[in-house]
Amino acid sequence: MHEIIENYDLDRISIATLGSHSALQILHGAKLEGFTTVLIVERRRLWFYNQFRHLIDHTLVVDSWREVVSKNIMNRLRSMNSILIPHGSFVEYVGLDRAESMEIPMFGLRGLLRIEADQRRKMKFLADAGIKIPKEYSINNVVPPVIVKFPGAKGGKGYFIANSIEDVKKGIERAIKQGIIQNPDEALIQEYIVGVPAYYHFFYSPVLDRLELLGADIRYESNVDGLKRLPAEISKYINPSFVVVGNIPLVLRESLLPKIMDYGLKFVRKSKEDLPPGIIGPFCLESIIREDCEIIVFEFSGRIVAGTNIYVMGSPYSWLYWDEPMSTGRRIAREIRMAIDRGILDLILT
Ligand code: AMP
Repeated sequence: MHEIIENYDLDRISIATLGSHSALQILHGAKLEGFTTVLIVERRRLWFYNQFRHLIDHTLVVDSWREVVSKNIMNRLRSMNSILIPHGSFVEYVGLDRAESMEIPMFGLRGLLRIEADQRRKMKFLADAGIKIPKEYSINNVVPPVIVKFPGAKGGKGYFIANSIEDVKKGIERAIKQGIIQNPDEALIQEYIVGVPAYYHFFYSPVLDRLELLGADIRYESNVDGLKRLPAEISKYINPSFVVVGNIPLVLRESLLPKIMDYGLKFVRKSKEDLPPGIIGPFCLESIIREDCEIIVFEFSGRIVAGTNIYVMGSPYSWLYWDEPMSTGRRIAREIRMAIDRGILDLILT
């Protein structure tokens, strides 16, 4: 990676991303910071991104996401001095092995991708960092209610909530029959935390050596968020599902912020210890806040999350640091700009 960056023309750096997830925000932010932008896009979505031509200087069209790692695309990205911004859909589209070995500088901590792909390693990382997580149960030792999760489930698809050991066993047998998992050990049986969901958008700046809280959101999930619209005597017969369809802004009670910031700092510290140089740029902690105001984190994302799309003009928190509209997409571009100006681009790319 050092070699690639050494050959880059630092006056002509471009910012590249994949056409999905938070691409529009990333491109918008890059433009505001004066960068050339590159969008890699599937042919079938080209018509949509063409509506935003003013945000895109170069378009690289692929017929399938597999092509993203082709020699042709890699060469073209390198010829444009591109820095790739991975987002939440990146690994899903490109595949973990390919994402890890892509020969293009990435803004973010590449080493975190493999931990993120494994639910148990992910939860251990959080616990070892000193962050409160839900209890995990073995199949014969369940304390209901629990939420049962399967590996690779996208957007919570296939998760189920159970209120007895029998229901857990039945649900896992069903998942094996449906081919979702091969054996019961693959299912993660987790304490179901009763409270409200809250997701925190952090940004760790290696350039400024500071952690910023750039926003927070709530996910709008189908059908679980729709069940409360039904009378209880109907909703009790419907299994909740957790398919994310959008995001809702959230401002937190200020007395919760120290705990949230403390968790963010713990995450940064742990990433530096285990995976030097540590987290770079955006990450998200995903939690349930209980009625006693205890915050339990059940998931993290090591990159920009779609909830940041709410704040293209900045959030109430980003204003406190920047006093100007600062989305996470723009903050990424600002970090790259500051690193170029200080001659420390190496510090923020992996
Ligand atoms: P995930 O795919 O891990 O983001 O989870 C999907 C959704 O399931 C979350 O947005 C939460 O609403 C819910 N969820 C996940 N884990 C828990 C938990 N341990 N307790 C309560 N709700 C949870």
